[in-house]
Amino acid sequence: MSLWDLPDFDAHEAVHFVCDRESGLRAIIGIHSTHRGPAGGGTRFWHYADPDQAVADVLRLSRGMSYKNAMAGLAMGGGKAVILADAQRTKTPEMLAAFGRAVDRLGGSYVTAEDVGISVADMVAVREQTRHVSGLPVAEGSVGGDPGPHTSLGVYLGVRAAVKRALGKDSLSGLHLAIQGAGSVASGLARLASQDGARISIADIDAARAQRVADEVAGTVVDPGEIMALEADVLSPNALGAILDEQSIAALRVPVVAGGANNQLARPEDGDRLQANGILYAPDYVINAGGIINVATEYLNDGDQAEVRRKIEQIPVRLEEIWTESAASGRNPAAVADLMAQRLIGRA
Ligand code: NAD
Repeated sequence: MSLWDLPDFDAHEAVHFVCDRESGLRAIIGIHSTHRGPAGGGTRFWHYADPDQAVADVLRLSRGMSYKNAMAGLAMGGGKAVILADAQRTKTPEMLAAFGRAVDRLGGSYVTAEDVGISVADMVAVREQTRHVSGLPVAEGSVGGDPGPHTSLGVYLGVRAAVKRALGKDSLSGLHLAIQGAGSVASGLARLASQDGARISIADIDAARAQRVADEVAGTVVDPGEIMALEADVLSPNALGAILDEQSIAALRVPVVAGGANNQLARPEDGDRLQANGILYAPDYVINAGGIINVATEYLNDGDQAEVRRKIEQIPVRLEEIWTESAASGRNPAAVADLMAQRLIGRA
């Protein structure tokens, strides 16, 4: 099948296949849209058993970044890169340098950052070859650095907005949050929610990590196999994608699903399933945009920390717009978000 006919191909502006014989680098850079600005999105370093999966990943993820950046109101388009690692995941300075040169050759139409398998140190190495990099370490007080806490803040504000809409409550005080994952995003959310008086149940396949967060917020550790079906006010997925499917949705015992994990819906029709079960869903790429807001503001150099916060505070406003439109049109919130994003990137 040709690239143009692949199911994930969505009139991407460009797909660059990179091969550097000396370092052994093989990478694909997908530029979905530059309608709103340079195509921003991280680099994934992953071993793909089948290179076609890498192509599908770059096509799907770069389109996702177009939608996410547009819905966050950023002057950035959407792009993504994957580096095809070998089975041992060998990563050399020469490969990173070659990758940096490839990004540089695109002249700023693609801006890279960290993603799965790529560290801040790797991005510092890429920065040696190109200035079209973000998510770099910064001095205290400057915009940049770890996007995690910014993502947590946006998710927290989004959870509050969802609770307001679904339960009519102005704060999380006395409410029960079931949090899947106890990593960067989840732990920040747990702290903010417990400061609001929420009761936290938390699960992670790394039990020690879950326990650490639970201890900090006087919460309860739950078995990872049980968190999705816990009776609570909010389920907040902050670990894996594709966790909402026909089976898991049928078992949910919450009125709200709002969390930071990417690609939570296994299939588009799972948005309808949530809606049919009376569950309010916060579309993932809208609620989890706090990190990219910080990354974009760093790269575009168009604001300070107060500006980052102001933009993150727009996340609940955008969610409200989506839910209002969903109520008016009968479309589920994920479908409404996709339509809004397509309009914003000139592809309605
Ligand atoms: P992280 O690696 O810090 O934490 C993820 C946690 O999930 C880990 O502790 C891991 O052990 C746990 N986990 C994995 N499988 C699990 C399972 N089956 N059940 C319970 N826990 C499980 O990652 P993070 O940065 O906190 O990101 C969490 C999610 O949010 C990811 O989906 C990520 O793509 C998304 N996200 C993160 C950011 C960010 O700024 N960090 C931004 C947008 C989206």
